Amino acid sequence: MSDHQFAPESQMMSFGYKPELSEGAIKCPIFQTSTFAFKKAEDGKAFFEIAYGKRTQSEGEELGLIYSRLNNPNLQITENRLSLWDGSEDAAIFESGMGAISSMLFEFLKPGQAVLYSMPVYGGTDHLITKVLPNFNIQCVGVSPLDDKEAVMEKIEKSGLKDKISFIYLETPANPTNALVDISMFREIADELKTEENPIYVGVDNTYMGPIWQHPLQLGADLVIYSATKYIGGHSDLVAGACLGSAELIGRVKGMRTFMGNMAGPHTGWLLMRSLETLKLRMEKQAQNAEKVAEFLNSHPKVDKVYYLGNLTEADGRQYKIFKEQCGGNKGAMVAFDIKGGEKAAFRFLNSMKLIKLAVSLGSTESLAEHPATMTHSDVDEDIRQEIAITESLVRISVGVEDAKDIIWDIEQALTSI
Ligand SMILES: *Cc1c(COP(=O)(O)O)cnc(C)c1O
Repeated sequence: MSDHQFAPESQMMSFGYKPELSEGAIKCPIFQTSTFAFKKAEDGKAFFEIAYGKRTQSEGEELGLIYSRLNNPNLQITENRLSLWDGSEDAAIFESGMGAISSMLFEFLKPGQAVLYSMPVYGGTDHLITKVLPNFNIQCVGVSPLDDKEAVMEKIEKSGLKDKISFIYLETPANPTNALVDISMFREIADELKTEENPIYVGVDNTYMGPIWQHPLQLGADLVIYSATKYIGGHSDLVAGACLGSAELIGRVKGMRTFMGNMAGPHTGWLLMRSLETLKLRMEKQAQNAEKVAEFLNSHPKVDKVYYLGNLTEADGRQYKIFKEQCGGNKGAMVAFDIKGGEKAAFRFLNSMKLIKLAVSLGSTESLAEHPATMTHSDVDEDIRQEIAITESLVRISVGVEDAKDIIWDIEQALTSI
């Protein structure tokens, strides 16, 4: 009996928290404090030695609390709980997804190096990679989800940056059309290009599938990124981010976080703990609803093409294979579709919704819809938009936890208004 292993969802209410240290409170309180009292000066000295990497922790030695830019119970317990879903050694929580992405890239890329990335990535990430990093003499090479290994290698050769690539950044499924990027293929490419002095790490933005439906660390990635604003937070009431991986790599990310100063505060950590308790419940319900929504859209005469992972079949070849192997057949809860009639019809649809909210962001309890071409992806280069089919008529829906009948009723009445 003693070797029984609890599933993550069974541990979200208790893991890493000791009620006896907090007056017996069942729930972890908010540790709304900037600094922590040391019992004696020797403790303060020891905690700093470890926090600043002057020596490694000895067996059984705990890293005591110092100052909330370095550590705080709400942050640490959330990090420990989030790690359970992906089976990672450690996690670092940030005050936003962009905070996690920028700190990770700045830790692993140095001036003179280059990042290989899959296009399109989230708009903020795209801006960081193509507009901000070049100011620090860090170049980039973009590849498409539809490129096979040969095509990727050709683009790398052509870029003239082959010897400089030091990090591979992927986002899969690609937002908004659910195009899948093959993580294991990029692992192979990293292993072929790396040298002793230049280990090439692979980081994957797993926001779209959340920690329930896809586990990049098990597929060859070194680091996983989340915008915890989305499924993990799940209630459209917070902005947060996370980076997960081995203790060694996350130790480095946390070092960068300490000096960038972009860790999450105690209240955000506390809200995330609340959210993690229902993560699986919410995501499973959202996936069930999305399946019904996609089925409805698939047969509607005013809808042209529906982009939904559950629509992939053997006929889709490599994409179907990646879906099976990488997503374990999980279909997610993001659906995009082309409405007949272009931007005018798409806007008419969005303006007619009564239950679904017209807003960007995703993964929340309420259903949200938006127009990628003029909103989330308005900054993406025209040729990439063409290549991955971000058309004027495309609408993206993040399916929520409402009664599926009501979501479908709303879509149907909004389509009728066109
Ligand atoms: C929202 C989002 C981000 C950015 O996260 P923030 O929490 O808004 O900073 C990064 N990647 C993806 C895929 C996202 O959807």
